[in-house]
Amino acid sequence: MVIVEIDYFLANLKEWMKPEDVARTFASVMDKPFVVKDPLGVALIVAPWNYPLSMVLLPLVAALGAGNTVIIKPSELAENTSNMFAKIVPKYFDQKQVAVCPGGVPETTEILKQRFDFIFYTGCPPVAKIIMAAASKHLTPVALELGGKCPVIVEKDADIDISAKRIVWGKWLNVGQTCLAPDYLIVTPAVKDKLVASIQKYIVEFYGNDTKLSKDYSRIINQRHFDRISTLLDRTKGTILYKGGERDRADLFIPPTILDCQPDDAFMEDEIFGPVLPILTVQSFDEALDLINRGEKPLAAYIFTRSDAKIKRLYTETSSGAITVNDTLMHLTIDTLPFGGVGNSGMGRYRGKFGFDTFTHHKAVLQRGFFGESLIASRYPPMTPQKLAMM
Ligand code: NAD
Repeated sequence: MVIVEIDYFLANLKEWMKPEDVARTFASVMDKPFVVKDPLGVALIVAPWNYPLSMVLLPLVAALGAGNTVIIKPSELAENTSNMFAKIVPKYFDQKQVAVCPGGVPETTEILKQRFDFIFYTGCPPVAKIIMAAASKHLTPVALELGGKCPVIVEKDADIDISAKRIVWGKWLNVGQTCLAPDYLIVTPAVKDKLVASIQKYIVEFYGNDTKLSKDYSRIINQRHFDRISTLLDRTKGTILYKGGERDRADLFIPPTILDCQPDDAFMEDEIFGPVLPILTVQSFDEALDLINRGEKPLAAYIFTRSDAKIKRLYTETSSGAITVNDTLMHLTIDTLPFGGVGNSGMGRYRGKFGFDTFTHHKAVLQRGFFGESLIASRYPPMTPQKLAMM
């Protein structure tokens, strides 16, 4: 994705950078109004651990493309990637162009006291509030790329088998530790049993009968997150529909688990960010939309259906950062689409031209000549009744 993004920037940057003429208005009919693309200055990129390479490099492409200098703060939890950045970035960039500041909370807290021209943060909403508060001290603008509970509606007119396959891929990739991962499913009773059976089939097809032995099945990042998900598993009132093994704290292994849940379940409180998939049952499509609208605005919403009317209702009657229809995650791979959240899932967007614009100040320039004084004579004092009448 990073290489595709770089190629896309290289192919389009010259065009995006150009000053852009805008339409003349009545008052500027003899002038030249245009927009100049200014770099913002020094940008800080604070990255999460879950995609530790691309969550640094994708915004870096946009920041450098727009002409900024950058300080990168990789996640301390992805220690090897953080060390790699500290080691290789100075080999390829002047320190004044791109610098790496590794470290955890104390180091980030210290960095945030500095004055930046832009802060691009990817992570969770509680830390985003700390970032925004620190930025406000210097009136620094921010982009906040956060997570949330991404719902998946599966309608009975969908190809249930293909839907299940694409849901399993998106949910258990990185064992659910993906900002865009399907967080929970919303289905009617007509869909449920068939969908659960297909999901189970694909879990086994992708990861084998003993998930723990699969080289493609990841682990939870650390014991804190293992304990967080374990507590939810202990608290849930949901019925287990499928469980692919037993939890193992020493190995940070949590099996793929499907739960039949009510909307007030422990798993419906926050972003799950783990390999547990709750299924909520509703009686109608209206009820499904209502359920989504009762929660915080998610980073993405997914729907599996052949009905254009239902697709349209999802994108007009709910609010989310993005929507993928009949698949999961894939809108992320399209450079020509903006990527970002709304409400609790974030603010600001990037990828392609949207990223260039995020890291750019659009400076308005009005250029005029020395003619036309008689046309603007009425604005100069002293004011007379005749001049006021002309205004
Ligand atoms: P996190 O918020 O804990 O950490 C992200 C960064 O913030 C790290 O660099 C960390 O060092 C720093 N940080 C953590 N606590 C801090 C504090 N108190 N003060 C200052 N800095 C602090 O997030 P995470 O656990 O690394 O990542 C998971 C979250 O990120 C999930 O919510 C996920 O949905 C979200 N995410 C969003 C996207 C997206 O593109 N929208 C992509 C990946 C992950």
